[in-house]
Amino acid sequence: MNTVTNKISIGHGSGGKLTHNLIKNLFLEKFRNPILESLTDSAILNINGTRLAFTTDSHVIKPIFFPGGNIGKLAVNGTVNDLAVMGAKPLYISCSYVIEEGFDYQSLERITQSISQSAQDAEVCVVTGDTKVVEKGKGDKIFINTSGIGLCNYSLPKDIEIGDKVLINGSIGDHEIAILSAREELGLNLKIESDCAPLADLISQVLKSSEKIKFMRDPTRGGLATTLNEIVEEKDFGILLEERDILIREEVKGICSLLGFDPLYLANEGKVVIVVAREDADQVIETMHSHLLGRDARIIGEVVDSPKGMVCLKTQVGGRRIVDMLVGTQVPRIC
Ligand code: MG
Repeated sequence: MNTVTNKISIGHGSGGKLTHNLIKNLFLEKFRNPILESLTDSAILNINGTRLAFTTDSHVIKPIFFPGGNIGKLAVNGTVNDLAVMGAKPLYISCSYVIEEGFDYQSLERITQSISQSAQDAEVCVVTGDTKVVEKGKGDKIFINTSGIGLCNYSLPKDIEIGDKVLINGSIGDHEIAILSAREELGLNLKIESDCAPLADLISQVLKSSEKIKFMRDPTRGGLATTLNEIVEEKDFGILLEERDILIREEVKGICSLLGFDPLYLANEGKVVIVVAREDADQVIETMHSHLLGRDARIIGEVVDSPKGMVCLKTQVGGRRIVDMLVGTQVPRIC
């Protein structure tokens, strides 16, 4: 909260430091229980000996149609990916619409068709939902909430050790830059598409290729930098990134330098960060390379002894800088 105004700011929804503080200081305090306390992408529930992953996500993206997808595709993949990174097989999702009065039926149909197709692609069924309509001017076209459950056959996360490798399945920042370019007011004319994709199949191949996967997370809001900070937070190890090994498309680099953004903080919707034991890293990369969504997979860093609890970047020119969690927000309503 902004202590001066006592109001929620856009930054509280950024997925960065302000969101973290809100969760820790308010939500975790009021809801505290051992399942929530793990603050993982999905809650892991033990029900009569069955391990289930359970997650929920609201989507408020603007614009609702963008290069590489729309709010419907995003709503399915966002939830499916939060289940998959826990090692779960996504099974069922819900779909709740909050629609603004006057929203055009054809767009709703297009979005719903996309939800149906994305669910099919991700091998999940939409089994329940809800529809609410708010008065004109009281919403912004459409918001969608999806929850999901999956069957968890793997126990993640595992203990991370010094020397473990940090992997990602491709370039960073594509989603956020695609959204930005779709905002007409900016007048950007880029040929970049969102990476929005379901990761469950890639992740299941990865889990089959190694028993030494320690941790996975999709670097969405807050980007790679925030996700890595979440991994090292209050831990007795750090992460050292190699700048030269991080893939950033030229268009993304260009926009970042134009607008003063750091690509490490840009949102992704089809990427997974994986921490794996050093000895298995190459075989996991090889497995990822054989999958459509992992063709550009690479090792981008490793778990180091110091500085503890911090993410550092070894720059191309050989310097080192600390990479903090996202503070504030770069672009609001990107997912
Ligand atoms: Mg996530």
